[in-house]
Amino acid sequence: TLKIGVLALQGAFLEHIHMLKNLPVVSDAIPIRTTEQLQSVDALIIPGGESTSMALIAERCGILEPLREFVKTKPTWGTCAGMIMLANEATSAKKGGQQLIGGLAIRVNRNQFGTQKESFETKLHMPEIVGETPFHAIFIRAPVISDILSDDVKVVGRLEQKVGQTEAETIIAVRQNHLFATAFHPELTYDNRLHGYFANMALEHYKN
Ligand code: GLN
Repeated sequence: TLKIGVLALQGAFLEHIHMLKNLPVVSDAIPIRTTEQLQSVDALIIPGGESTSMALIAERCGILEPLREFVKTKPTWGTCAGMIMLANEATSAKKGGQQLIGGLAIRVNRNQFGTQKESFETKLHMPEIVGETPFHAIFIRAPVISDILSDDVKVVGRLEQKVGQTEAETIIAVRQNHLFATAFHPELTYDNRLHGYFANMALEHYKN
């Protein structure tokens, strides 16, 4: 079984912990605020929230470098702001830039759909990761993946319809070896298939 941590510096971490606790393969799900806690878990979720604040708090707490080390070898899933944190590059970051954890070879565009008002919900068809039943996805000031920077990165989810100025087929979920990222908030629904997918991905990782 697995002990999974959820980075709890800022944002929607409690909802992820609740989702994880309902999975039989997860023996423990804990909030992560310190390096010691981080080093005690097998896998990590970086939640949605606000990536600039999350980066500043991480830096201040001294957990940014330990996070960079962690994601090099351990299964990690970034959702929304967490996806931004995991990306190697982010556009629309203010001049001077915000710190990222990095590790995932993608470039993201923050706040792709505009302000809070432009948040939306949509059905996504992601057969490789959740089977044939569409996944109800909630996008809140969401980023998108504008560029894939390595052949190791596999696209596992795309927008199915045009949303505002954003074209259908825009990439919103990717997997690169032990790293996984989604632009939306799967912890805000009652559907735990993506949490199940991530737990399985982590189990597979430790089998090899
Ligand atoms: N807009 C946020 C950011 O840029 C992400 C929003 C979210 O995580 N729901 O960090």
